[in-house]
Amino acid sequence: MNLRALRLSVILSVLICFGCTESGGDTATDQGASSAGTEKVQESEQDKAESPDAGAEKKEKEKEKSDDGQRAEEPAQHKDKSEAKEEQEKERLAPTHDHKAFKERLKERQEMVSTQIQRYEVTGEKVLAAMRTVPRHAFVRPSDTSLAYADRPLPIGYGQTISQPFIVGYMTDKMQLDDKKKVLEIGTGSAYQAAVAAEIAYEVYSIEILRPLGNSAQKRLADLGYRNVTTKVGDGYFGWEEHGPFDAIIVTAAAPHIPPPLVKQLKPGGRMIIPVGGPFATQYLILVLKGADGKVTSRQLLPVAFVPFTRKQ
Ligand code: SAH
Repeated sequence: MNLRALRLSVILSVLICFGCTESGGDTATDQGASSAGTEKVQESEQDKAESPDAGAEKKEKEKEKSDDGQRAEEPAQHKDKSEAKEEQEKERLAPTHDHKAFKERLKERQEMVSTQIQRYEVTGEKVLAAMRTVPRHAFVRPSDTSLAYADRPLPIGYGQTISQPFIVGYMTDKMQLDDKKKVLEIGTGSAYQAAVAAEIAYEVYSIEILRPLGNSAQKRLADLGYRNVTTKVGDGYFGWEEHGPFDAIIVTAAAPHIPPPLVKQLKPGGRMIIPVGGPFATQYLILVLKGADGKVTSRQLLPVAFVPFTRKQ
C-alpha cells in the first residue's frame, strides 16, 4: 500500500468523502478536451481554400474581392467588439476579494494546498491558486472554524457536508476550467465548491434542493463578493436549461444514475463529474465527456462516499 492509499484509507475512517487508489490512465480522457478548437482551425482553412480563384472576369473578380473584403472584415470587427464586451463583463463579475476573510488564515490555506492537494494528483495551477484564495473557514459552521483546513469533510447542517478539500480540488481539476467557462454545480451546500470554481471560471450556476442551505449559501456568496455565481433552490436533476449549455457540470451528491437532462445540458467538448452509487454501496466519481461531435463517453475515477442526491424539496 503506497503512502497515498494509506493516507486516504485513514480519511475513510474519519467521515464522509474519501478517496483511494485511482484507476490509472486518466490522461487519455484529457487529450480529448481540445478537439473543438482543432476543428475550428480546420474550418477556417477550408474557407480560405474555397475563396474565388483567378479565372473569373476582371470586373467580377473585383466585385468578389470587395465582397470578400467585407466578409472578412465584418466578423473581425464584430469579434473585437464582442471580445471587449466579454472583457468588461468578466471585470464586472470577477470576485472582489474585499472581505476580510480572504486576508485571514492564509498560511493554513497554503499548507492545506501543499500537503493535502498538490502532493497528490491535483496539479492544475489555477485550481491550486483558487484553493489558496477561497477562505474555507467562512464556509463552515462557527463551531467548526478551527477544523476548516483539516483533511476532512465537515457537517454543514441538515445532514449535509462540505466535502474534504482534496475532493473539491480533484473534482475541479478534472473540469479543466478557465475564465471562459460556464459551470453548473448541483448541490450548493455551503457554496465552497461553487466559490472555488468561481475563482477560475467565467460564471457558475449552482442549485441546492434544501431551501435553508440554498438561502444561506446565496447570502454567503454575496457577502464574500462572488458576483459570478448565481444560485437557486430546486431539484438539480433537471439542470438549469435557461442558462445552459454548460462547459462543465459538477455534481456534489451521489446519484443512482447520471441524470439525462444534465448530459443534454453539457456543451460539445464539455465535461461533467458526478458521484454515482447508492448511499450504502460503493460510489464512484464518474467523469463524463461529451465530444465535439456530441458523442458521450464516461470513465470511472475514485471510489468516494458522498451524501445522497435527493429528489424531494
Ligand atoms: N458542494 C457542497 C457540498 C454539499 S453536499 C459544498 O461545497 O459545500 C451535497 C448537497 O447536495 C447537499 O447540500 C444536498 O442538499 C444537495 N442535494 C442533494 N440532492 C440534490 C438535488 N437533487 N438537487 C440539488 N441539490 C441536491
